Order: sequence, then C-alpha cells, then structure tokens
Amino acid sequence: MDAKKFLAEINAEVKRLHTKSATAYWGLTTTGKSEYGEEMQKAEIELRLYLADKERFDTVKESMNLELDSIEKREMRLLFNEMLPNQLSKERIEEAVKKEVEIESLFANFRAKINGKEVSNNEITEILEKSTDSKLRKDAWIAGKEIGKEIAPKLIELIKIRNENAKTLGFNNYYDMMMELQELSTGEIHSMFRTFKEQTDDLFKEIKDDIDETRSLKLKISKEEMRPWHYSDLWFQEVPEIETYDYDSIFKGKEIISLVKKTYDSINLDIVDIIERSDLYERKGKNQHAFTISIDTENDIRVLENIRPTVKWAETTLHEYGHAVYDKYIDKSLPTVLRGPAHTFTTEAVAMFFGRRARDAEWYEKIVNLDGSILKEIEPRLKKLLKYQLAITARWIIAFVFFERELYKNPEREDLNNLWYDTLQELQFINPPEERRKYPDWAAKIHFGIAPVYYHNYLLGEMMASQMESYLKENVSKELINKNVGEFFVEGIFKPGSKYRWDELIEKATGKPLNPKFLAEQIK
Ligand SMILES: [Zn+2]
Repeated sequence: MDAKKFLAEINAEVKRLHTKSATAYWGLTTTGKSEYGEEMQKAEIELRLYLADKERFDTVKESMNLELDSIEKREMRLLFNEMLPNQLSKERIEEAVKKEVEIESLFANFRAKINGKEVSNNEITEILEKSTDSKLRKDAWIAGKEIGKEIAPKLIELIKIRNENAKTLGFNNYYDMMMELQELSTGEIHSMFRTFKEQTDDLFKEIKDDIDETRSLKLKISKEEMRPWHYSDLWFQEVPEIETYDYDSIFKGKEIISLVKKTYDSINLDIVDIIERSDLYERKGKNQHAFTISIDTENDIRVLENIRPTVKWAETTLHEYGHAVYDKYIDKSLPTVLRGPAHTFTTEAVAMFFGRRARDAEWYEKIVNLDGSILKEIEPRLKKLLKYQLAITARWIIAFVFFERELYKNPEREDLNNLWYDTLQELQFINPPEERRKYPDWAAKIHFGIAPVYYHNYLLGEMMASQMESYLKENVSKELINKNVGEFFVEGIFKPGSKYRWDELIEKATGKPLNPKFLAEQIK
C-alpha cells in the first residue's frame, strides 16, 4: 500500500465533505431554511458511509503495522478511532439512530404540567430562580422530572443496543469503547475525578453550607428542610442566587464585541477576520444558541451568536472566540485530519479560560475600564461567584459521569433510581427527596440519550483551563491579559492541532501531566 497516496485521497475527501456539510449548517442556522438541512444531512451521510467503508477501514487497520512517519501514524490512529464505530451492519446502525431520534423528539414534544396546566421549560426555570413559595417550587421541580418516566424504558433499550454493538466491535460495553476512542482510559479518568472529589470535599461542604444558610433564610424554611427544589435549577448545576449585584448594568450602552476584540488584541490574538465573517445578533429565523464553526478546515472560521449587552453574553462571546482562535492558529500545513484541536476538551479548556475573564476583576479594570470604587465592590463578589460556580459545576459533572458509567455497566440493575439519588447525595451533598427514589428522575436529563459518554469532557476542560492559568501566572505573566499570553496559546496549544495526543500536548505546553489540583486550588 502507498500510505501517502491513500492518506492524500482521504484528506481531500474529508475536506470536501466537511466543507459541504459545514456550509449547509451555516446556511441552516442563519436562515432556518429547510433546504440547507437536507443538504447538510446528505453530506453527513456521504461522509459517514465513506468512513464506514470496510476496505478503507481494513487498510487503516493494516497500516498500524507499517513503518510510517509520526504524522502519518497519527492520521491513521485518528481515522481508526473515527471509523471503528461505523463498522457495523446498516441495520444495527439504523436501529440505534432510530431510538436516538425517538428520544430526542420525545424531549422536543414533551410539555410539563403543574396542577394540570402546561408549563414551558422557561417557566419552570423562572419559578426555580425566583419563587419563594416552597410548594410551587416543588411542583415545578417535579414537573421538570416527569418526562423521565417516559424516557427511561426507551433509554435503557438504547443503552442495551449500544452495548451489544460495542461488544460486536470487541469492547466490554459502549462506555469503555467511547472512552477509548476518545483516547481516554475509563479507569484513569474516574480515579482522577474520585481524587478531585476527595480533595475538595471539605471545601465543598463549606460552600454548600453557606448556600443552604442563605437559601433557607430567603425561603423561610429550616436548613434541614432543604431539598433539591430549593436550589435554582433542576439539577443544582448552577450557583443559586446568593447575592444581588446587577452585573448587567455594567454593560449598558457598551458593545460586547468591541470589548471582546479589545481582550484578544491585548493578548496578541487577532480576531478581526473572524468577527467579519461572524453572525452576531438576533434575527428572525436564526438559531438561538451560540457556536463556532470552521467552514473549510482552512481560514474560514465563523461564530454564530445572539449577543445582548449582558454579562452572560460577555462570557459566551469570550468563550466562543476562544474556540475560534484555536481553529484559526492551527498549523494549516498539517493534513486535514490533524487540523482540529487535540481533543474536544482541549478546545473547551481554551474557551473556558477566556470565558472566565468575565469573572475576573482584571478584565473589568483593563478592558471594561470600570472605575476604582465599583471595581473594589465587585472584586470579592466575582471571586466568590467563580469559586462557587466551579465547585458546583464539578460536583454535578462528577455525579453525572459516575452514574453514566454504572448505567452502561449494567443497564438492567433494579436499583438505578436509588443509585441516582445516592450518587447525588455523595457528590452534591443534597438531601434526596425519599418519595422520588422510586422514579427515574435521572432520565429527565437529555444528555444521557443524545450526548452519550461526553459529559466528562466538561470537567477535563475546567481542569485544563485551571492548569493553563496556573502555568501562565507562574511562568509567563502574573496578569493574564497580557501580550505574552498569546504566544503560549499559539505555540503551545493551537499550532500542533491534533498532532499530539491530549496528554502529550498538555505536558509539552505546561510541563506537567493533567492534574486536578489546579482546579481544586481555585475552589479554595
Ligand atoms: Zn464551548
């Protein structure tokens, strides 16, 4: 086999099909026109079939024993990871996809009810954020979990199908397969999360205590009466309202995108060309979320947002342009299949690093130019908010991740519902509502169905973001908004694309393997 020729052909085809589907996706999300949706689906199926091709897969597999240079080896490895899950019969692939679509549409069409009256997800969120009526809070919270009963049996069927498929491909179960294909070891990641939990138990206990104190006073109940519906979202994954500073007022009359441009300028990263191609403001028919996309695997990188002058959009915009600079500065002399981030969580880490600037007094001083008295007032508040948010996020993610692994280990175990509440109690320190132990409330979280074996990446991202922060402060600049910071990102993180595995990249860039202690330190 001529590996060079083989890879050249694959790279060209992957690039062509990626560009086709990304262009259509951009069309769809900026206009809402269904013809783009059809185009995108066509390109995606074409790419999937191309990568499913048995002969092509066998060539990749055999190449593992050939003498190849390090770049070619890496290309083959990534192609292998991408192709392997598709080495199943058409019927088996379709069976799983059909179940996934079914679950997704159940979520899309489900309308929760409070006392027989339909309520939207936004209404539930609003009650949990604002209401002081414990009875109403409980009703809203239960309404948000009710879909679990419908989803659970279908989800368990889907998990069994996924497991059977993984067994056919030579793995214990689907969880271990997906971890391995993401170049992660289930055992290592879970023990890292376990260590992190133990390192931060005392810190989290303090935070949780403080939150319970504040919340129970506000809701006029005793601390012992606190239940999951007394926090401000369905899963206790956000910081409940514990203070009332109006951060949005800071952004009145300011243009978020100019502040973000100024931020990246100050770090020596140029986003002008990306801003020009981006679609940043609300419009009818446009997708309501925020994302970054590389259209052609070259320099055409775009961001879609719906910016309003609020702190949430400041953070989101800083976050999305973090993804965008990563894509922009990847060395374009690398072959197409290596022109992506080293890992899903490495690009998330970079985006999180930049998003966190909106929770840092330095940014308000240097970029927003707030005057000294306001700065003095918000600095300790911002510190506390970031610390609480990181702690709460981490606890929630670990609970999800631990439970998800058990779910795939044995989807038929009888005590899943109990296990869910035991896991939340152990990680989030909540008082489980005993009367809910008989219901599959866990199945109301959409990610189990549509984003399987993915959640751990959010925490790995936070851990890496903290490690980069610590490295920069110690070795590059005490202040993070600084021209030299850009060089660290471009040379150390962005340029290599996915030439190195994530663990090699992190060690090269920061001098140490990924270590959860840096995130733990930020929670202190
Ligand atoms: Zn992101």
